[in-house]
Amino acid sequence: FGPDYVRAIAPYQAGKPISEVAREFGLDEATIVKLASNENPFGVPDSAKAAMVQAAAELGRYPDANGFELKQVLAARYDVPADWITLGNGSNDILEIAAHAFVEKGQSVVYAQYSFAVYALATQGLGARHIVVPAKKHGHDLEAMLDAIEEDTRLVFIANPNNPTGTFIPGAEIEAFLKRVPPNVVVVLDEAYTEFLSEADRYDSPAWVRQYPNLLVSRTFSKAYGLAGLRVGFALAQPALTDLMNRIRQPFNVNSLAQAAAIAALGDSAFLEKSARNNTAGYQQFVEAFEQMGLDYVPSHGNFVLVKVGNDMGAGARINLALLKQGVIVRPVGNYGLPEWLRISIGLPQENAVLIAALQKALAESR
Ligand code: PMP
Repeated sequence: FGPDYVRAIAPYQAGKPISEVAREFGLDEATIVKLASNENPFGVPDSAKAAMVQAAAELGRYPDANGFELKQVLAARYDVPADWITLGNGSNDILEIAAHAFVEKGQSVVYAQYSFAVYALATQGLGARHIVVPAKKHGHDLEAMLDAIEEDTRLVFIANPNNPTGTFIPGAEIEAFLKRVPPNVVVVLDEAYTEFLSEADRYDSPAWVRQYPNLLVSRTFSKAYGLAGLRVGFALAQPALTDLMNRIRQPFNVNSLAQAAAIAALGDSAFLEKSARNNTAGYQQFVEAFEQMGLDYVPSHGNFVLVKVGNDMGAGARINLALLKQGVIVRPVGNYGLPEWLRISIGLPQENAVLIAALQKALAESR
């Protein structure tokens, strides 16, 4: 069944669920450490839990199809009109809606090698052509991406910070790119990890949205806000883009609990600060351990680190299995063309310590 371009799609590989690993390796679920999906190790903020309990009373009704209240809060936060916001069932939904709204079958989409897997899914699912631009030091080569844009290119995906590599493009370079990109090409700037950026790295992309009619900034509640399981993300863009996206998105694509939790999480700056602080400390913990073990890693600006666990093409899979047997779930990235590497999410200090010990053991056994 189906068109060739759908059959050609490689399925998305998500981090293994804890229950599955427990069953497969005969382990107690409670002892398993999952550092595989760049989730927030603190889980759902209490403020969001309380908001969901309240919202649960109304679950017999459909959610607000236009997310009125959530959009009001986002509009105030980012200083844009509410109709410049599109809500998504996770930011994956935003990425897919954007591809469907702006690209036709046969036209092309540009993105970087080693950038987020959903760009390929969204592009290929349409029967669009992808132009994958070779990475520079595991990150985006914006100069080469500009050169790669063709006559029929309608969209460029940029992840900043990037997943799975954690690389970061300084704001000034992105702005220079926006100035030079053809005005009929939509730039999707995917900022899923933006809340983890240091003060020094922060830049004001909502201001660019006011300036560039072809820019769409994508954000998520899945990472720093701790709401991955609820599936809620959003896009900021001018109405010429937002209007089209809203025509083709599914009505009710963000459920009531997610809307209520997102509003609460936006107001919970203490949770966000705690998450960022934990991330900075955990990154330090990992980097020191990797250096001690003599492992190469890619300096990361996200809540995860890409680390090289061997020199052969089987290294990532082998060390991943050795970690799973010890009850530690991380993310192999062979599907990204990085089979010698593993992507490890930053957890709580104790979880990080468990990963470090398990990795040391796995590496020793594999020598
Ligand atoms: N963009 C990037 C770069 C990501 O890493 C992720 C999460 N893996 C997403 C978007 C999608 O996240 P969500 O759909 O949970 O918002």
